Amino acid sequence: MNPKQITRENYLLKIEWTDGHQSELTVSYLRRKCPCAQCKQQRAQSKDGTIEIDEHLPEPIHFKSYQRVGHYALQFEFSDGHKDGIFTFEYLRKLCICPQCHSEPSRVKNLPFHH
Ligand SMILES: [Zn+2]
Ligand SMILES: [Zn+2]
Repeated sequence: MNPKQITRENYLLKIEWTDGHQSELTVSYLRRKCPCAQCKQQRAQSKDGTIEIDEHLPEPIHFKSYQRVGHYALQFEFSDGHKDGIFTFEYLRKLCICPQCHSEPSRVKNLPFHH
């Protein structure tokens, strides 16, 4: 899966994929899902599986810089100074939070109600 177009906004990353699908990922969400070893460990150790970030100090978390890594990934420097995570396109697609991506069988919603 590859992006056709990537639009970077202050607090949002928009990706249009080659299959026409579109993902919108907020920067703070990406920061929380950072795939580097350090953040993975933090998530594993926290009760709710998320990372504590200074989201609103002094302004909402945003990208300081952004670069492509080869043909397979993006690397961001976040405004909190963190820049170790390499987000592969495959991973970014998995992070998509649109209703369509969340309708796989394990998350079936609107089930008819049975007694
Ligand atoms: Zn990280
Ligand atoms: Zn999606």
